[in-house]
Amino acid sequence: MSSGVKAVRQSEKILEKARNKIKEGVDNYRAASDAPPKVDVYDVIEQVFSLINPTNGDESKISIDEVSGCLRRAYLDRKDPQEATHKQMMATIIEKGALSILEKPATGEIDAGSGVKLVGRADRVEDEVVMVFRSVAELPEMPFAEHFMQLNAYLHMFNKQEGVIIYFDTEGNELEFVVPRSEKLLNETTRRARILNTLLKNNIAPTLEPSNRCINCPHNEKCYYPSEDKQKWGFWARGKWRELKAKPIL
Ligand code: SF4
Repeated sequence: MSSGVKAVRQSEKILEKARNKIKEGVDNYRAASDAPPKVDVYDVIEQVFSLINPTNGDESKISIDEVSGCLRRAYLDRKDPQEATHKQMMATIIEKGALSILEKPATGEIDAGSGVKLVGRADRVEDEVVMVFRSVAELPEMPFAEHFMQLNAYLHMFNKQEGVIIYFDTEGNELEFVVPRSEKLLNETTRRARILNTLLKNNIAPTLEPSNRCINCPHNEKCYYPSEDKQKWGFWARGKWRELKAKPIL
């Protein structure tokens, strides 16, 4: 059986398990009526989230998602995982669930040097092209840097010359970017994989990588301010006050 067919079967199995877990949770919830439910919807969300986000304990295998994001987050996810909120879990489930219908996934790996493997799963691999699907609140003018890095790694992994990043907004509008493969970008990607591997082996947390991703990162408080400080200084309250304050009349 080819690795592509295996990956599709594996993905179907995971989706099937996720569907069964959701059904089981909903059935339990209904059967419970006034009595305390055996399983509530939060248990279901947690079970489905852990199914679609398996943990990687092998430090010699670094995923494309890890290197294309914040290395500090990748390190902390492995060494000091922070439980995601139910809202964060649902956002992931909805995104993966909605776009999975378009996928024909394939898994693969690239030798990153120094005994490190770069591993990943492309959304859709066709004869001449690799596709990645991403959902966004607003269609971008340019692809996001992390998506360039992901697609380029898949182009090398599956030996294709060209790929497409396809964005969908919440209203179903779609925008495509055709991207050629780049050796230079791959070298940077494998270098990041080797750096993360070295830091994991030596228990050294990478430095901060400040970006918009920090706002929704579960490790935000480890990198910036603990929630007590946010309350003390009224970070959130002040933001709300500004929204409510009447605009000056010119
Ligand atoms: S808060 Fe920002 S810098 Fe810190 S781990 Fe998360 S993404 Fe990285």
